[in-house]
Amino acid sequence: MTTKTDILIIGAGPSGSVAAAILNKKGYQVTVVEKMTFPRFVIGESLLPRCMDILRDADLVEALDEGGFQKKYGAKFISGDKECDFDFSEQFTKGSTWTWQVMRADFDKLLADTVASRGVEFNYETTVNDVQFHADKVITSAVSKGQDLQIESKYVIDGSGYGRVLPRLLKLDAPSNLPARSAFFTHMSDKKRPNNIDGNRIQIVVLNQKLWAWIIPFSNGNTSVGFVGDLPDTDPNQSLEENFLTLIQTEEYLNDRFNDANFIFEPKQITGYSSSVSKFYGDRFVLTGNSTEFLDPVFSSGVTFALESGSRAAYLVADELAGKDVNWEKEYVDYIQSGVDVFRSYVNGWYDGTLPTIFFSPNINQGLKERICSVLAGYVWDQSNPYVKKHESAIGVLAKVIRIQKKAAKKITP
Ligand code: FAD
Repeated sequence: MTTKTDILIIGAGPSGSVAAAILNKKGYQVTVVEKMTFPRFVIGESLLPRCMDILRDADLVEALDEGGFQKKYGAKFISGDKECDFDFSEQFTKGSTWTWQVMRADFDKLLADTVASRGVEFNYETTVNDVQFHADKVITSAVSKGQDLQIESKYVIDGSGYGRVLPRLLKLDAPSNLPARSAFFTHMSDKKRPNNIDGNRIQIVVLNQKLWAWIIPFSNGNTSVGFVGDLPDTDPNQSLEENFLTLIQTEEYLNDRFNDANFIFEPKQITGYSSSVSKFYGDRFVLTGNSTEFLDPVFSSGVTFALESGSRAAYLVADELAGKDVNWEKEYVDYIQSGVDVFRSYVNGWYDGTLPTIFFSPNINQGLKERICSVLAGYVWDQSNPYVKKHESAIGVLAKVIRIQKKAAKKITP
Protein backbone atom coordinates (compact mmCIF):
# COMPACT_ATOMS: atom_id res chain seq x y z
CA MET A 1 0.00 0.00 0.00
CA THR A 2 1.22 3.55 -0.71
CA THR A 3 0.08 6.68 1.14
CA LYS A 4 1.02 10.36 0.91
CA THR A 5 1.55 13.01 3.57
CA ASP A 6 3.38 16.34 3.92
CA ILE A 7 5.64 15.34 6.81
CA LEU A 8 6.37 11.84 8.06
CA ILE A 9 7.53 11.54 11.65
CA ILE A 10 9.25 8.35 12.81
CA GLY A 11 8.49 7.60 16.49
CA ALA A 12 5.72 8.72 18.84
CA GLY A 13 7.97 9.66 21.79
CA PRO A 14 8.03 13.24 23.12
CA SER A 15 10.15 14.58 20.26
CA GLY A 16 7.93 13.06 17.56
CA SER A 17 4.65 14.05 19.20
CA VAL A 18 5.62 17.66 19.91
CA ALA A 19 6.91 18.08 16.35
CA ALA A 20 3.61 16.65 15.08
CA ALA A 21 1.60 19.05 17.26
CA ILE A 22 3.43 22.09 15.95
CA LEU A 23 3.31 21.11 12.28
CA ASN A 24 -0.38 20.31 12.64
CA LYS A 25 -0.91 23.77 14.13
CA LYS A 26 0.91 25.21 11.12
CA GLY A 27 -1.62 23.51 8.83
CA TYR A 28 0.49 20.65 7.46
CA GLN A 29 -0.67 17.08 6.99
CA VAL A 30 1.39 15.00 9.41
CA THR A 31 1.70 11.23 9.76
CA VAL A 32 3.46 9.54 12.68
CA VAL A 33 4.66 5.94 12.42
CA GLU A 34 5.45 4.10 15.65
CA LYS A 35 6.74 0.55 15.87
CA MET A 36 5.16 -0.26 19.25
CA THR A 37 1.59 -0.23 20.51
CA PHE A 38 1.02 2.41 23.18
CA PRO A 39 1.23 2.44 26.16
CA ARG A 40 4.82 1.14 26.01
CA PHE A 41 7.61 1.35 28.58
CA VAL A 42 10.52 3.70 28.07
CA ILE A 43 12.91 5.11 30.66
CA GLY A 44 13.26 8.88 31.22
CA GLU A 45 10.72 9.77 33.88
CA SER A 46 11.85 13.03 35.42
CA LEU A 47 11.25 16.14 33.29
CA LEU A 48 12.81 19.60 33.66
CA PRO A 49 10.89 22.89 34.01
CA ARG A 50 12.06 24.00 30.54
CA CYS A 51 9.80 21.26 29.11
CA MET A 52 6.76 23.24 30.26
CA ASP A 53 7.60 26.19 27.99
CA ILE A 54 7.78 23.91 24.95
CA LEU A 55 4.62 22.01 25.88
CA ARG A 56 2.78 25.29 26.54
CA ASP A 57 3.82 26.66 23.16
CA ALA A 58 2.40 23.51 21.53
CA ASP A 59 -0.87 23.89 23.56
CA LEU A 60 -0.28 20.60 25.34
CA VAL A 61 0.00 21.49 29.05
CA GLU A 62 -3.74 21.53 29.79
CA ALA A 63 -4.33 18.08 28.27
CA LEU A 64 -1.29 16.61 30.01
CA ASP A 65 -2.37 18.08 33.33
CA GLU A 66 -5.41 15.79 33.12
CA GLY A 67 -2.96 12.89 33.51
CA GLY A 68 -2.55 13.75 37.21
CA PHE A 69 1.21 13.26 37.04
CA GLN A 70 3.39 13.94 40.07
CA LYS A 71 4.35 17.61 40.17
CA LYS A 72 8.08 18.24 40.47
CA TYR A 73 9.23 21.46 42.18
CA GLY A 74 12.90 20.71 42.69
CA ALA A 75 15.62 18.10 43.00
CA LYS A 76 17.60 16.89 45.99
CA PHE A 77 21.13 15.49 45.99
CA ILE A 78 22.19 13.28 48.91
CA SER A 79 25.65 12.01 49.91
CA GLY A 80 25.74 10.26 53.27
CA ASP A 81 24.55 12.86 55.80
CA LYS A 82 25.05 15.76 53.38
CA GLU A 83 22.17 17.15 51.29
CA CYS A 84 21.70 19.80 48.63
CA ASP A 85 18.17 20.80 47.70
CA PHE A 86 17.42 22.78 44.56
CA ASP A 87 14.04 24.50 44.54
CA PHE A 88 12.96 25.59 41.06
CA SER A 89 11.24 28.68 42.51
CA GLU A 90 14.72 29.93 43.46
CA GLN A 91 16.23 30.36 40.02
CA PHE A 92 18.29 32.94 38.17
CA THR A 93 16.35 32.49 34.90
CA LYS A 94 12.73 33.52 35.10
CA GLY A 95 11.22 30.33 33.77
CA SER A 96 8.84 27.62 34.89
CA THR A 97 9.16 26.72 38.56
CA TRP A 98 7.74 23.21 38.17
CA THR A 99 7.32 20.22 35.89
CA TRP A 100 6.31 16.55 36.19
CA GLN A 101 7.67 13.15 37.17
CA VAL A 102 5.91 10.69 34.88
CA MET A 103 5.55 7.05 34.03
CA ARG A 104 6.47 7.43 30.40
CA ALA A 105 4.05 4.74 29.24
CA ASP A 106 1.15 6.95 30.42
CA PHE A 107 2.73 10.30 29.59
CA ASP A 108 3.74 9.43 26.03
CA LYS A 109 0.33 7.86 25.33
CA LEU A 110 -1.57 10.90 26.60
CA LEU A 111 0.72 13.17 24.60
CA ALA A 112 0.25 11.13 21.40
CA ASP A 113 -3.52 10.74 21.91
CA THR A 114 -3.88 14.49 22.42
CA VAL A 115 -2.01 15.22 19.21
CA ALA A 116 -3.99 12.52 17.35
CA SER A 117 -7.26 14.10 18.54
CA ARG A 118 -6.23 17.23 16.62
CA GLY A 119 -6.08 15.37 13.31
CA VAL A 120 -2.58 13.89 13.14
CA GLU A 121 -2.57 10.29 11.91
CA PHE A 122 -0.67 7.89 14.23
CA ASN A 123 0.10 4.44 12.80
CA TYR A 124 1.16 2.06 15.58
CA GLU A 125 2.87 -1.31 15.05
CA THR A 126 4.53 0.27 12.03
CA THR A 127 8.28 -0.20 11.78
CA VAL A 128 10.33 1.87 9.36
CA ASN A 129 13.01 -0.16 7.63
CA ASP A 130 14.09 1.98 4.68
CA VAL A 131 14.07 5.62 3.59
CA GLN A 132 14.91 6.75 0.04
CA PHE A 133 15.54 10.42 -0.70
CA HIS A 134 14.63 11.89 -4.11
CA ALA A 135 14.94 15.44 -5.46
CA ASP A 136 11.28 16.27 -4.78
CA LYS A 137 10.12 13.67 -2.24
CA VAL A 138 11.03 11.02 0.31
CA ILE A 139 9.80 7.42 0.09
CA THR A 140 9.72 5.63 3.43
CA SER A 141 9.18 1.88 3.58
CA ALA A 142 7.68 0.28 6.66
CA VAL A 143 5.97 -2.86 7.79
CA SER A 144 2.61 -2.01 9.28
CA LYS A 145 0.83 -4.82 11.16
CA GLY A 146 2.48 -7.37 8.86
CA GLN A 147 1.73 -5.44 5.64
CA ASP A 148 4.28 -3.57 3.51
CA LEU A 149 3.62 0.16 3.52
CA GLN A 150 5.20 2.95 1.46
CA ILE A 151 4.75 6.55 2.53
CA GLU A 152 5.57 9.45 0.24
CA SER A 153 6.34 12.72 2.03
CA LYS A 154 8.03 16.07 1.48
CA TYR A 155 10.06 15.74 4.65
CA VAL A 156 11.00 13.17 7.28
CA ILE A 157 11.56 13.92 10.96
CA ASP A 158 13.36 11.12 12.75
CA GLY A 159 12.23 11.00 16.38
CA SER A 160 12.93 7.29 16.72
CA GLY A 161 14.95 7.65 19.94
CA TYR A 162 16.98 4.57 20.80
CA GLY A 163 15.79 3.07 17.46
CA ARG A 164 18.10 5.60 15.68
CA VAL A 165 16.50 4.86 12.32
CA LEU A 166 18.16 7.44 10.06
CA PRO A 167 21.53 7.41 11.89
CA ARG A 168 21.63 3.66 11.16
CA LEU A 169 20.30 3.78 7.59
CA LEU A 170 22.44 6.77 6.56
CA LYS A 171 25.46 5.72 8.64
CA LEU A 172 25.44 8.89 10.72
CA ASP A 173 26.20 7.22 14.05
CA ALA A 174 29.23 8.72 15.80
CA PRO A 175 30.82 7.57 19.06
CA SER A 176 29.91 9.49 22.19
CA ASN A 177 32.83 11.15 23.95
CA LEU A 178 31.45 10.01 27.31
CA PRO A 179 32.55 6.67 28.78
CA ALA A 180 30.10 3.75 28.46
CA ARG A 181 28.18 3.66 31.75
CA SER A 182 25.39 1.34 32.83
CA ALA A 183 21.96 1.71 34.39
CA PHE A 184 19.97 -0.81 36.45
CA PHE A 185 16.41 0.24 37.30
CA THR A 186 12.88 -0.74 38.23
CA HIS A 187 9.67 0.60 39.78
CA MET A 188 8.99 -0.24 43.43
CA SER A 189 6.17 0.19 45.88
CA ASP A 190 7.12 3.05 48.22
CA LYS A 191 5.35 2.34 51.50
CA LYS A 192 7.94 4.25 53.51
CA ARG A 193 7.71 7.42 51.43
CA PRO A 194 8.46 10.38 53.75
CA ASN A 195 5.43 12.51 54.65
CA ASN A 196 7.30 15.75 54.05
CA ILE A 197 8.51 17.41 50.83
CA ASP A 198 11.06 14.59 50.33
CA GLY A 199 8.23 12.15 49.65
CA ASN A 200 7.62 13.66 46.23
CA ARG A 201 11.06 15.01 45.41
CA ILE A 202 13.35 13.38 42.89
CA GLN A 203 16.44 12.42 44.87
CA ILE A 204 19.89 11.66 43.53
CA VAL A 205 21.80 9.55 46.02
CA VAL A 206 25.59 9.25 45.76
CA LEU A 207 26.99 5.78 46.46
CA ASN A 208 30.51 6.71 45.38
CA GLN A 209 32.06 9.08 42.83
CA LYS A 210 31.29 6.70 39.96
CA LEU A 211 27.93 5.32 41.10
CA TRP A 212 24.68 7.03 42.05
CA ALA A 213 21.00 6.20 42.35
CA TRP A 214 17.79 8.00 41.37
CA ILE A 215 14.54 7.97 43.34
CA ILE A 216 11.63 9.33 41.28
CA PRO A 217 8.27 9.18 43.06
CA PHE A 218 5.10 8.91 40.95
CA SER A 219 1.60 10.10 41.81
CA ASN A 220 0.27 6.49 42.01
CA GLY A 221 2.39 5.70 45.10
CA ASN A 222 5.07 3.76 43.23
CA THR A 223 8.58 5.06 42.74
CA SER A 224 11.22 4.59 40.07
CA VAL A 225 14.58 3.53 41.50
CA GLY A 226 17.69 3.22 39.37
CA PHE A 227 21.45 2.90 39.72
CA VAL A 228 23.77 4.54 37.20
CA GLY A 229 27.51 4.55 36.59
CA ASP A 230 30.12 1.89 37.10
CA LEU A 231 27.83 -0.89 38.33
CA PRO A 232 29.27 -3.89 40.14
CA ASP A 233 28.91 -7.14 38.14
CA THR A 234 25.61 -8.88 38.77
CA ASP A 235 25.80 -12.25 40.51
CA PRO A 236 24.59 -14.80 37.91
CA ASN A 237 23.45 -17.13 40.70
CA GLN A 238 20.99 -14.53 41.96
CA SER A 239 17.85 -13.16 40.34
CA LEU A 240 17.83 -9.58 39.04
CA GLU A 241 15.62 -8.65 42.02
CA GLU A 242 18.16 -10.11 44.45
CA ASN A 243 21.01 -8.30 42.73
CA PHE A 244 19.03 -5.06 42.89
CA LEU A 245 18.31 -5.50 46.60
CA THR A 246 21.99 -6.15 47.26
CA LEU A 247 22.76 -2.74 45.75
CA ILE A 248 19.96 -1.09 47.76
CA GLN A 249 21.44 -2.54 50.93
CA THR A 250 24.80 -0.87 50.28
CA GLU A 251 23.39 2.60 50.99
CA GLU A 252 21.71 3.51 54.26
CA TYR A 253 18.98 5.84 52.96
CA LEU A 254 18.04 3.50 50.10
CA ASN A 255 18.07 0.52 52.45
CA ASP A 256 15.82 2.23 55.02
CA ARG A 257 13.29 3.24 52.37
CA PHE A 258 13.25 0.28 49.96
CA ASN A 259 14.69 -2.86 51.58
CA ASP A 260 11.24 -4.45 51.93
CA ALA A 261 9.52 -2.74 48.95
CA ASN A 262 7.83 -4.81 46.23
CA PHE A 263 9.10 -4.82 42.66
CA ILE A 264 6.54 -3.62 40.11
CA PHE A 265 8.59 -5.22 37.32
CA GLU A 266 11.84 -7.14 37.05
CA PRO A 267 14.80 -4.71 37.09
CA LYS A 268 16.20 -3.85 33.66
CA GLN A 269 19.84 -3.26 32.85
CA ILE A 270 21.22 -1.22 29.94
CA THR A 271 24.79 -0.26 29.08
CA GLY A 272 26.41 2.24 26.73
CA TYR A 273 23.32 4.38 26.09
CA SER A 274 25.30 7.59 25.40
CA SER A 275 25.26 8.30 21.67
CA SER A 276 26.05 10.91 19.07
CA VAL A 277 25.72 11.59 15.33
CA SER A 278 27.90 13.11 12.62
CA LYS A 279 25.01 15.11 11.14
CA PHE A 280 21.70 16.44 12.55
CA TYR A 281 19.98 17.21 9.23
CA GLY A 282 20.21 16.81 5.47
CA ASP A 283 18.18 17.29 2.34
CA ARG A 284 14.54 16.64 3.39
CA PHE A 285 15.33 15.15 6.80
CA VAL A 286 16.10 16.19 10.34
CA LEU A 287 16.95 14.18 13.46
CA THR A 288 15.38 15.07 16.81
CA GLY A 289 15.55 13.83 20.41
CA ASN A 290 17.59 10.80 21.24
CA SER A 291 18.23 9.98 17.61
CA THR A 292 20.73 12.88 17.73
CA GLU A 293 22.72 12.82 20.94
CA PHE A 294 22.14 11.44 24.42
CA LEU A 295 24.52 12.21 27.27
CA ASP A 296 23.65 10.76 30.66
CA PRO A 297 20.61 10.49 32.92
CA VAL A 298 22.11 12.33 35.91
CA PHE A 299 20.47 15.72 35.26
CA SER A 300 17.27 14.39 33.60
CA SER A 301 17.92 16.34 30.40
CA GLY A 302 16.79 13.74 27.79
CA VAL A 303 13.10 14.60 27.45
CA THR A 304 13.92 18.33 27.60
CA PHE A 305 16.22 17.95 24.59
CA ALA A 306 13.66 15.72 22.87
CA LEU A 307 10.98 18.41 23.24
CA GLU A 308 13.32 21.31 22.47
CA SER A 309 14.70 19.71 19.31
CA GLY A 310 11.32 18.33 18.19
CA SER A 311 9.75 21.75 18.53
CA ARG A 312 12.58 23.66 16.90
CA ALA A 313 12.89 21.20 14.02
CA ALA A 314 9.14 21.45 13.38
CA TYR A 315 9.21 25.25 13.12
CA LEU A 316 12.19 25.11 10.76
CA VAL A 317 10.62 22.39 8.57
CA ALA A 318 7.46 24.52 8.36
CA ASP A 319 9.57 27.54 7.32
CA GLU A 320 11.44 25.53 4.68
CA LEU A 321 8.26 24.06 3.22
CA ALA A 322 6.81 27.58 3.10
CA GLY A 323 9.75 28.58 0.88
CA LYS A 324 11.78 30.45 3.50
CA ASP A 325 15.56 30.20 3.64
CA VAL A 326 16.56 28.11 6.65
CA ASN A 327 20.10 28.12 7.97
CA TRP A 328 19.95 24.67 9.54
CA GLU A 329 23.52 24.79 10.79
CA LYS A 330 23.00 27.99 12.75
CA GLU A 331 19.32 27.81 13.67
CA TYR A 332 19.21 24.11 14.53
CA VAL A 333 22.59 22.42 15.02
CA ASP A 334 24.39 25.30 16.77
CA TYR A 335 21.38 26.02 18.96
CA ILE A 336 20.78 22.43 20.12
CA GLN A 337 24.50 21.73 20.40
CA SER A 338 25.07 24.77 22.61
CA GLY A 339 22.53 23.41 25.13
CA VAL A 340 23.97 19.90 24.91
CA ASP A 341 27.46 21.31 25.54
CA VAL A 342 26.32 23.00 28.77
CA PHE A 343 24.91 19.72 30.07
CA ARG A 344 28.03 17.87 28.91
CA SER A 345 30.15 20.13 31.16
CA TYR A 346 27.79 19.46 34.07
CA VAL A 347 27.74 15.68 33.45
CA ASN A 348 31.56 15.65 33.36
CA GLY A 349 31.59 17.85 36.47
CA TRP A 350 29.32 15.38 38.23
CA TYR A 351 31.53 12.37 37.57
CA ASP A 352 34.88 14.13 38.18
CA GLY A 353 33.77 15.40 41.61
CA THR A 354 33.50 19.12 40.71
CA LEU A 355 29.72 19.38 41.15
CA PRO A 356 29.53 17.18 44.27
CA THR A 357 32.13 19.52 45.83
CA ILE A 358 29.82 22.47 45.13
CA PHE A 359 26.52 20.75 45.97
CA PHE A 360 27.69 19.35 49.31
CA SER A 361 29.57 22.44 50.43
CA PRO A 362 27.87 23.70 53.63
CA ASN A 363 27.99 27.37 52.63
CA ILE A 364 27.23 27.66 48.93
CA ASN A 365 26.29 31.24 48.02
CA GLN A 366 22.55 31.56 47.29
CA GLY A 367 23.04 33.68 44.13
CA LEU A 368 25.43 31.13 42.65
CA LYS A 369 23.12 28.29 43.65
CA GLU A 370 20.27 30.00 41.77
CA ARG A 371 22.41 30.20 38.64
CA ILE A 372 23.23 26.49 38.85
CA CYS A 373 19.58 25.73 39.62
CA SER A 374 18.57 27.31 36.30
CA VAL A 375 20.91 24.97 34.45
CA LEU A 376 19.40 22.02 36.32
CA ALA A 377 15.95 23.33 35.34
CA GLY A 378 16.96 23.08 31.68
CA TYR A 379 17.49 26.80 30.99
CA VAL A 380 20.75 26.11 29.21
CA TRP A 381 20.18 28.68 26.48
CA ASP A 382 20.09 31.69 28.83
CA GLN A 383 23.37 33.36 27.94
CA SER A 384 22.84 35.99 30.66
CA ASN A 385 23.57 33.20 33.17
CA PRO A 386 27.36 32.99 33.63
CA TYR A 387 26.95 29.33 34.60
CA VAL A 388 25.56 28.77 31.09
CA LYS A 389 27.79 31.15 29.16
CA LYS A 390 31.02 30.02 30.83
CA HIS A 391 29.87 26.49 31.54
CA GLU A 392 33.28 24.96 30.91
CA SER A 393 35.11 27.06 33.50
CA ALA A 394 32.47 28.40 35.94
CA ILE A 395 31.81 25.25 37.95
CA GLY A 396 35.51 24.34 38.00
CA VAL A 397 36.47 27.77 39.37
CA LEU A 398 33.73 27.65 42.02
CA ALA A 399 34.75 24.15 43.17
CA LYS A 400 38.38 25.33 43.42
CA VAL A 401 37.39 28.30 45.61
CA ILE A 402 35.35 25.98 47.85
CA ARG A 403 38.29 23.57 48.21
CA ILE A 404 40.69 26.46 49.07
CA GLN A 405 38.22 27.83 51.66
CA LYS A 406 37.85 24.38 53.17
CA LYS A 407 41.64 23.99 53.48
CA ALA A 408 41.97 27.48 55.01
CA ALA A 409 39.19 26.76 57.52
CA LYS A 410 40.97 23.55 58.55
CA LYS A 411 44.20 25.47 59.17
CA ILE A 412 42.43 28.10 61.32
CA THR A 413 40.57 25.51 63.41
CA PRO A 414 42.87 24.69 66.35
P1 FAD B 1 11.72 7.85 22.62
O1 FAD B 1 10.99 8.40 23.75
O2 FAD B 1 12.70 6.81 22.78
O3 FAD B 1 10.70 7.57 21.45
C1 FAD B 1 11.11 7.03 20.22
C2 FAD B 1 10.00 6.16 19.64
O4 FAD B 1 10.41 5.73 18.34
C3 FAD B 1 9.75 4.92 20.46
O5 FAD B 1 8.41 4.87 20.88
C4 FAD B 1 10.11 3.78 19.51
O6 FAD B 1 9.27 2.65 19.65
C5 FAD B 1 9.94 4.41 18.13
N1 FAD B 1 10.75 3.75 17.09
C6 FAD B 1 12.02 3.29 17.22
N2 FAD B 1 12.41 2.70 16.07
C7 FAD B 1 11.37 2.80 15.22
C8 FAD B 1 11.17 2.37 13.87
N3 FAD B 1 12.11 1.69 13.17
N4 FAD B 1 9.98 2.64 13.29
C9 FAD B 1 9.00 3.29 13.97
N5 FAD B 1 9.14 3.70 15.24
C10 FAD B 1 10.31 3.48 15.85
N6 FAD B 1 15.41 11.68 30.29
C11 FAD B 1 14.79 12.57 31.08
O7 FAD B 1 14.34 13.60 30.61
N7 FAD B 1 14.65 12.32 32.43
C12 FAD B 1 15.15 11.20 33.03
O8 FAD B 1 14.99 11.03 34.23
C13 FAD B 1 15.86 10.28 32.19
N8 FAD B 1 16.36 9.13 32.72
C14 FAD B 1 17.02 8.25 31.90
C15 FAD B 1 17.61 7.12 32.45
C16 FAD B 1 18.34 6.23 31.64
C17 FAD B 1 19.00 5.04 32.24
C18 FAD B 1 18.46 6.51 30.25
C19 FAD B 1 19.24 5.60 29.36
C20 FAD B 1 17.85 7.63 29.70
C21 FAD B 1 17.14 8.51 30.49
N9 FAD B 1 16.53 9.65 29.96
C22 FAD B 1 15.94 10.56 30.79
C23 FAD B 1 16.57 9.93 28.51
C24 FAD B 1 15.23 9.59 27.83
O9 FAD B 1 15.02 8.19 27.91
C25 FAD B 1 15.26 10.00 26.36
O10 FAD B 1 16.06 11.14 26.19
C26 FAD B 1 13.88 10.30 25.77
O11 FAD B 1 13.03 9.21 25.93
C27 FAD B 1 14.03 10.65 24.29
O12 FAD B 1 12.77 10.86 23.70
P2 FAD B 1 12.58 10.68 22.14
O13 FAD B 1 11.27 11.25 21.80
O14 FAD B 1 13.77 11.17 21.42
O15 FAD B 1 12.59 9.10 21.93
